Amino acid sequence: MTLVRFFSTRLTPKALSNSLIGFIALVCVLLVLATAWQMQQSANERVDAAKVSVSNIVLAAEQLARDTMLQADNTLRDIAERVAHDGIIADQQTRLTTLLARQVERIDGIQGLFIFDAKGNWVANSFAQGIQTKNNSDRAYFIYHRDNTSQAIHIGSIVESRTTGELIIPISRRIESSDGTFAGVALATIPVAYFQSFFKRVDIDNDGVIFLALDKGELLARRPTVDALMTTNISKGDIFSRYLPHSDSGTAIIKSVVDGVERIYAYRRLSGLPIVAAAGISYQQVFAPWWSYVFHSMTVMAVIILALALLGGLLYRQIQQLLVAESELNAAQDKLEIIAMTDSLTSLANRRSFDVALKKEWGRALRNQSSLAVILLDIDWFKQYNDHYGHLPGDDCLVEVAALIAQSASRPFDIAARYGGEEFVILLPETELAGAIVVAEKVRRSIEQAQIQHSTSALGIITISAGVVAVCPTDKNSHRDSMAEADRLLYCAKINGRNCIEAASYQRVPSVVCCESNGG
Ligand code: GH3
Ligand code: MG
Ligand code: MG
Repeated sequence: MTLVRFFSTRLTPKALSNSLIGFIALVCVLLVLATAWQMQQSANERVDAAKVSVSNIVLAAEQLARDTMLQADNTLRDIAERVAHDGIIADQQTRLTTLLARQVERIDGIQGLFIFDAKGNWVANSFAQGIQTKNNSDRAYFIYHRDNTSQAIHIGSIVESRTTGELIIPISRRIESSDGTFAGVALATIPVAYFQSFFKRVDIDNDGVIFLALDKGELLARRPTVDALMTTNISKGDIFSRYLPHSDSGTAIIKSVVDGVERIYAYRRLSGLPIVAAAGISYQQVFAPWWSYVFHSMTVMAVIILALALLGGLLYRQIQQLLVAESELNAAQDKLEIIAMTDSLTSLANRRSFDVALKKEWGRALRNQSSLAVILLDIDWFKQYNDHYGHLPGDDCLVEVAALIAQSASRPFDIAARYGGEEFVILLPETELAGAIVVAEKVRRSIEQAQIQHSTSALGIITISAGVVAVCPTDKNSHRDSMAEADRLLYCAKINGRNCIEAASYQRVPSVVCCESNGG
């Protein structure tokens, strides 16, 4: 109900204009919020899609690294067992060399296989027949196996190959003699270029990065490559310092310590191997299409807001014009009402207006049981005035008399009206007969004192006669009778010589005797 009343209530002009401005502002704010929400959603979707794609790249890099390392490890295990069993004796070296060369051919990604004795001397390798007179006892992997009894695979940081000069990743195993003493090292070398060429084939943006690194942070391969690849350590980067200590795999938005580019990264520690694979897509590349979408959305939004503002301005102006038109119409209607209720010659209330007022006041007096008085006035010998002076001076005289009547009936609720022709009427609510006689006498005297010349009247001036009636209404419709009584009293005044008043309190049955009432 309250809602229905709310919607059916007519708004004030100011409230209507404010509501329009508020509505358009609300629509604009909602539009901005909806667009912002949509952009946020789209940004989230882009980041999620980038995370999925970068995680897939990491999985592929991990797979390649794992396959290559495990194949190298299996081969090294075979070689270590064979050498541990057979020992390293001169007549086996040729056979071993052939075997190593065959294994290298068979395994994808392995560049060379080597066997070193306990002093680090080259015993056999996959490159050439015969023994090379070189010593690798200074290499980190050799020192590690010599000093460490672990039988596990060892993956070293990048070194420059003494055979080919290439950058290689050394994968090695300790060889033990049958009594468990250190007998040498079996080594497989994987060229850095093997992983780098795989990385090159991966579909990733120009600012994207893929790398493999040892779990201590030394880089093993990277796209794009860096000049100091061999000595670059990224252990201080966020992946190693912040994320890997808590989780072996995941995604993160990080600024690279190598090139300072902000990327969406995926990272993964290879289980069972001391290697970390990671890949990152540049944040800028991920968001390049998003920015264009934002630009287009903002443009569309700006156009819509502009259109709404224009439409709002247009409606606002229309409302203002309608309101002006409405107030002009109301004013015109008020004017018409006044015209319809006013006598055009004298500007007093007209007969219609008087009839309405009489009915209203009659009802009020009936309800309040109060007295109401009517004075009916008529100019004496006015026909003669017209005949003598002419119709237009007659009109002027009527205007003058009307003004004098209006001055005399000056209480706020008194109504003076032109009853017709040269007859006037004054309605006096809440007035007893005595009060009405005073008013009637005041009017009569004021007209007499105005000394308006009337040479064809017996007195030589304009005078009026009046019938005054005061009544306490007892029923709704008897106001007509009281008017008839006033008329009768006026007639009496005329008979009694004019320029006088006749008054009576009116009862339901009026007296028919003339000139025996008060006044005159
Ligand atoms: P009495 O004293 O008995 O009232 O005499 P009277 O001549 O005034 O009475 P009568 O009713 O015979 O004449 C009224 C005259 O009032 C007739 C008409 O010429 C004049 N009259 C009525 N209305 C107008 C008007 O609007 N303008 C003018 N100039 N004269 C009017
Ligand atoms: Mg008359
Ligand atoms: Mg008259």
